[in-house]
Amino acid sequence: MAVDQRVQASCGLGSAQARATQTGLALVTGRIQRTAEGDFPVVVIGGGITGAATAAAAAAPGASVVLFEKEDGPAREGSGCAQGSLRVQGHHGAEFPLAQEALQLWTDAAEEGDFDLVKGGNRYFRTKEDELPILQHLVEEAHKAGLTQVQLLDAAQVREIMPAATGPFLGAMWSPVDAQCQSEKGTELYTRRAEKAGAQIAFGVKVTKLIESCGRIIGVDTTAGRIQAGAVVVGAGVWTPYLAKTVGLDVPIMPVVMSELETEPVKPLFEQAIRAFGFGSRQRRNGKVVVSVGLNAKVAHGVSLADLNGLRYWLTRAMSFRKNLKVKFDLARTIEQLRHRSTLSTDLIPHVSPELTCDRKVVHSALGRLSTVIPELQGAKATRYWGGLVDMTPDGLPIIDGHVGPEGLPLITGLAGHGFTLGPVLGEIASDLSLDGATKRDIESFRLARYQGKVDQPEMMI
Ligand SMILES: Cc1cc2nc3c(=O)[nH]c(=O)nc-3n(C[C@H](O)[C@H](O)[C@H](O)COP(=O)(O)OP(=O)(O)OC[C@H]3O[C@@H](n4cnc5c(N)ncnc54)[C@H](O)[C@@H]3O)c2cc1C
Repeated sequence: MAVDQRVQASCGLGSAQARATQTGLALVTGRIQRTAEGDFPVVVIGGGITGAATAAAAAAPGASVVLFEKEDGPAREGSGCAQGSLRVQGHHGAEFPLAQEALQLWTDAAEEGDFDLVKGGNRYFRTKEDELPILQHLVEEAHKAGLTQVQLLDAAQVREIMPAATGPFLGAMWSPVDAQCQSEKGTELYTRRAEKAGAQIAFGVKVTKLIESCGRIIGVDTTAGRIQAGAVVVGAGVWTPYLAKTVGLDVPIMPVVMSELETEPVKPLFEQAIRAFGFGSRQRRNGKVVVSVGLNAKVAHGVSLADLNGLRYWLTRAMSFRKNLKVKFDLARTIEQLRHRSTLSTDLIPHVSPELTCDRKVVHSALGRLSTVIPELQGAKATRYWGGLVDMTPDGLPIIDGHVGPEGLPLITGLAGHGFTLGPVLGEIASDLSLDGATKRDIESFRLARYQGKVDQPEMMI
């Protein structure tokens, strides 16, 4: 059923115009225009990979789509900060089919434009004996999901594939099918694809409220005015809980800052993405080496009154992972929350996100560990540092759900440190959910309702 037919059916109204009058909603205001009489667009919130891929997928079959991004361009938050590893191995069992499909979609997208895609595989280095059972478990999970190419290698086998790894290590888990890319370029490609398919992209426009009527989402308020919608996809990263709260939904997300550095260009050393306990890396085509904090990353969180929301999840999680979590009281944010008398008002969503502090100590330690395994990196100078916000969930699994409360409100968030990989398939899912109300992909494990019961702790921090 088409979006506007579903909207009318849900309230039992004869026409879109009649419904607009009854709900008191103005038709589109500001510079965003409706494309056809009675054709309410799918509104997408967020110009990261989730939003861009959703807009592209929904516009492709001809749906009217409007994407709002509060920043002045795509990929200014999570999607522009990613290391750029398109990793299939190492996912939770429930995520494997999505990751595999996403990698295929990334491969297909490379036919359309360049985003520095390199299909060099991904390697999880093992530097200590006690890491072996964890990697064995990950290999078993991969095989169960049909990813039989994932295997454990000893150090000699690793060096055959990566001759630069001459330093000491014990072996690695290896997936030859994984890839890497420049994440902002990948997001831009999907933004262009959405535009080409007819989606309207509004940068610099913040969504301030979701509007519900008769148990359905029927529009949004934005800083450019109010717009009616047949469905609203929220792909707003760490800010999703603020938007969801405007229709009374609790979405448990804890934002944490993950740090990265990039070195000066060095000679080509490796084309595989690397992940290990305490370090992660990839070498860009221009020779620069991107370094992240890897498995069980050390991350930072600014404590404020917002942490009282969902304390029942976070307290246990913070205690279990206390070695990985650097907490600091965020006085400025707390004052803002007191001023707005709310911890989740959309006024607290920054129009332009401030630059986040990179934890230089942890990324230099990661570079140090990487240089032990690949000694030719010793002495490589770091020339860029950054921190990015990660949307962590209590159980470490994403939230991908089209039936969270009011109809017509697909939510995608909680993608943690590996959501960039999934982006293209998340776009397909969100498009299905907004246009058809259902998707053929299995997203049962990612329902928001799972947090009403007992919540499992993840095995790793990120
Ligand atoms: C340091 C770091 C390294 C990472 N490395 C990897 C990696 O190697 N591989 C991988 O797969 N993943 C990685 N990730 C995770 C990945 O970046 C994210 O999971 C993914 O980019 C999330 O995409 P998104 O579109 O859902 O969210 P985002 O990219 O955060 O996009 C959300 C967008 O919504 C906008 N927005 C929010 N609220 C509003 C509003 N009210 N109105 C309008 N717009 C709004 C924001 O401005 C933002 O642009 C990494 C993350 C970080 C921080």
